Amino acid sequence: MDIKANLEQVKKSFQNPNCKLIAVSKTKPLADLQAAYAAGIRDFGENKVQEIQAKQPEMPADTRWHMIGHLQSNKIKYIAPFIHLIHGVDSFKLLVEIDKQGKKIDRPIPVLLQIHIATEESKFGFDLEELETMLSSLEFNDLTHVQIQGLMGMASFTENQDQIRTEFRGLKQLYEDLKKRTLPSFVNLHELSMGMSGDYQIAQEEGSTMVRIGSSIFGARNYPNS
Ligand SMILES: *Cc1c(COP(=O)(O)O)cnc(C)c1O
Repeated sequence: MDIKANLEQVKKSFQNPNCKLIAVSKTKPLADLQAAYAAGIRDFGENKVQEIQAKQPEMPADTRWHMIGHLQSNKIKYIAPFIHLIHGVDSFKLLVEIDKQGKKIDRPIPVLLQIHIATEESKFGFDLEELETMLSSLEFNDLTHVQIQGLMGMASFTENQDQIRTEFRGLKQLYEDLKKRTLPSFVNLHELSMGMSGDYQIAQEEGSTMVRIGSSIFGARNYPNS
């Protein structure tokens, strides 16, 4: 697997050269991360706390770690001191727990709210009603140690490009609508995390600011569902 060549291919095919690239290195060995780092990558995405914990001390200090998977409340504390961005915050309860851990170490923790845009039931994320309930609740205003930097979403697993485009477009519209609203000062929306190996070009055409790309860089994973 020529990681450097793959990275060049991926970057060459970007529809927006300013879009940030998160190299999704879950399940991949340290040597693969080091190869990507040597090729200039600083942002790495992982979906298991244990795996981030194992890899983080082995990588250079300027590596930026992105938690892109479903995060369990009891594991926040292990990544709170250094995590660059938590992409998958999908409930108010989890946001409150992240705030709590941030308070303990006096570090406002950067997060994205994951929005459910796919047709599959199984994909995590807020639906519009849950989001509205949270944003208009008094408790939401009491948060102090989170920084909500944007939204994240995953399109349906389908060959239908039009459907994928429609889902990304909907997320972008929601993002623009929220930006116009008066929200607490810890909400500063400037990132829209959408797009993976199969759909990052469509996502960029629809306004993505960061794409999360794994298999197109590191090759197929042994555990497709991980
Ligand atoms: C695994 C994963 C990716 C990367 O998927 P690829 O298809 O390998 O690019 C992106 N986002 C999330 C949330 C993931 O879990």
